[in-house]
Amino acid sequence: TTSYITAIDGANELNAYVTKTPEKALEMAKASDERIAKGEARPLEGIPLGIKDLYCTKGVGAYACSHILDGFTPEYESTVTQNLWDDGAVMLGKLAMDEFAMGSTTETSYFGPVKNPWRAEGESIDRVPGGSSGGSAAAVAARICAGATASDTGGSIRQPAAFTGTVGIKPTYGRCSRWGMIAFASSLDQAGPIARTVRDAAIMMKSMASVDAKDTTSVDLPVPDYEAALTGDIKGMKVGIPKEYRVDGMPEEVEANWQQGIDWLKAAGAEIVDISLPMTKYALPAYYIVAPAEASSNLARYDGVKYGLRVNGNDIIDMYEKTRAAGFGSEVKRRILIGTYVLSAGYYDAYYLRAQKIRSLIKQDFEKAFQSVDTILTPATPSAAFELNKEITDPVEMYLNDIFTVTVNMAGLPGISVPSGKNGQGLPMGLQLIGKAFDEETLFRTAGVLE
Ligand code: GLN
Repeated sequence: TTSYITAIDGANELNAYVTKTPEKALEMAKASDERIAKGEARPLEGIPLGIKDLYCTKGVGAYACSHILDGFTPEYESTVTQNLWDDGAVMLGKLAMDEFAMGSTTETSYFGPVKNPWRAEGESIDRVPGGSSGGSAAAVAARICAGATASDTGGSIRQPAAFTGTVGIKPTYGRCSRWGMIAFASSLDQAGPIARTVRDAAIMMKSMASVDAKDTTSVDLPVPDYEAALTGDIKGMKVGIPKEYRVDGMPEEVEANWQQGIDWLKAAGAEIVDISLPMTKYALPAYYIVAPAEASSNLARYDGVKYGLRVNGNDIIDMYEKTRAAGFGSEVKRRILIGTYVLSAGYYDAYYLRAQKIRSLIKQDFEKAFQSVDTILTPATPSAAFELNKEITDPVEMYLNDIFTVTVNMAGLPGISVPSGKNGQGLPMGLQLIGKAFDEETLFRTAGVLE
């Protein structure tokens, strides 16, 4: 813990931490030392972790990297973080993210952008760490935490993991409790870890998962020993390759990386099966209706009364308006506008209802595919990490980053991103494995072979 605290201060340039809690960390580490001395070590005893700023942590600010949560210090602990502390983990601090988890670069954070510790060979240009869990991914990659919590609504664990050469898993919807996680889109949000290796991710996942009376969408199923699933044996496993993921204009290096993954799995004895997921092309537009709709509703609670920032006005309505105008960043405002529009009486049927129908069809696509395969292999992202501060004026261009990941959230399935080598510029690349509901074990086992 001491060496991590030193390393964190030495890596300020990355801007990965928005809140550092060194005193708390040392106190927790001391308690862990005492436990170890007594022979009472728990599974994560003394392991120093970073926590995405979207998790409520008792007595430590939780801002979701938004100005509107200025000064908000939760009175309670999220279930996921409590589970980690109950297993002996140590908290190093809170990690940067896109504001309210909306974004793919961590540039929408109120606390400024995070730098990816990776750069292209021979270049001095900073790259984005991906998003929204960019602080988590950058911190794990830079070795300024042993592992980190993250969250994934449309790819926010898997895409930053792919951009930083780390492992990230979004488990099945319901595997982790969402209680105490600041909500973005409640029917899509899931907690998960970002870690250095598949084994580390498996160990963290086991601690994070639980059924919870405080989240009725959490599922009462035994949590398997994910680490034990890492047998390395995938002989006879059927791996689906969906043709619809071979999208137009897919860069050569992404295609080559995917083929490499196919070859590795084949060499390990897996059987490769061509499959079709015909609804894939509708996933992104449907996601960008469902997610903003839920976000607009979830974010209605930030009104200057209950949480964080208040900007005084002439009357209460004026106060609400001034607070929300000053407190939310432009991407969040865009999502609120889209969300309220698609939910409004005149447009509900045309947009929201249709998107929900598409969501059912996407789910059915996967159900059909999983009748003949055990897991599905796809690229994790359509490119490696791009440059920081790149002028992207069209928001849709940014949304295209999520093309391979959003389907998984729409269907509630588990997805893991695993490092699969580097591109021609020496930047990390990632592959995604998608699994059947609650079959994270197959993902860990297969990812262990690809790693
Ligand atoms: N990039 C996606 C979005 O902006 C996904 C975000 C997420 O998974 N939290 O909505």
